[in-house]
Amino acid sequence: MRAMVLREPRLPLELERRPDPEPGAGEVRLRVEACAVCRTDLHVVDGELRLPRLPIVPGHEIVGVVDRVGSGVDAPAVGERVGVPWLGHTCGACAYCRHGAENLCDRPVFTGHGRDGGFASHVVAEAAYCIALPLDADAVRLAPLLCAGLIGWRSLAMAGDGVRELGLYGFGAAAHLVAQLARRRGQRVHAFTRPGDVRAQSFAGELGAAWAGGSDERPPVELDAAILFAPAGELVPAALAAVRKGGRVVCGGIHMSDIPSFPYSLLWGERQVRSVANLTRRDAAEFFAFVAGQPLRVDAIRYPLEDANAALADLRAGRIEGAAVLVP
Ligand SMILES: [Zn+2]
Ligand SMILES: [Zn+2]
Repeated sequence: MRAMVLREPRLPLELERRPDPEPGAGEVRLRVEACAVCRTDLHVVDGELRLPRLPIVPGHEIVGVVDRVGSGVDAPAVGERVGVPWLGHTCGACAYCRHGAENLCDRPVFTGHGRDGGFASHVVAEAAYCIALPLDADAVRLAPLLCAGLIGWRSLAMAGDGVRELGLYGFGAAAHLVAQLARRRGQRVHAFTRPGDVRAQSFAGELGAAWAGGSDERPPVELDAAILFAPAGELVPAALAAVRKGGRVVCGGIHMSDIPSFPYSLLWGERQVRSVANLTRRDAAEFFAFVAGQPLRVDAIRYPLEDANAALADLRAGRIEGAAVLVP
């Protein structure tokens, strides 16, 4: 197999050839068809997250076909297509797991973080955490749904019920999917991009945003909720200033620069700030059921697996409209 390997944070990934991995009990091996690149991968590579092990193969938006199964696996079977998301394993025993919050598990293992991920030609995953995917869809367009879509879905739920005017800060892979989900739910989307990024603003308009502007601007209406996908802490007070009384600011990313201090008046009026951590398998089932009948438009830019470093650099520089996807 071929894999793009992180040996040390802040060093480029290195192409490595390894013997094909063997799935253990309860595991399956996939031939990777596509793996999207998430901002979390950038945080892993840039050393912004504590890594439980090194070297590691990043990548947690994996679409592949099962080509070998370990012992004790009933499903999926050889030849079936599955997705492998960030949630790679949970303990099943802690208070969070027992109460429907496996996303907060005390002893989780995350794909491309605590076990090798999908920046590779093959990957081994726990069968119980694989998501069944249709074989008739384009793998490159399915891959971004495995995190950008799922985290977007969970973030949208966290924004609360009764949201009509929704702000999205950072219009990348997740927001371009959430904008479509929100519109289907009858919500109006206000897209905030880097100031002056007119390309991202027109992209948001194409996807149905009612308004698009810079993150330093105020939207034309008060927002009921805002979701932050950009990893910039200074957007938290900016978003609080744009939401109404009782409104929520949801931080959708795993890492963010420090949030600057701000006057209490921005939080006053029962405004809330909350984060979204990981995902549950129930989120995945609900999300894929929601989009099954009417697929989302997924804007994907393909890169050969060996160009993973270029894809990460383009994401870091904000040069990607939609999602970057590696194809082995
Ligand atoms: Zn991700
Ligand atoms: Zn647990």
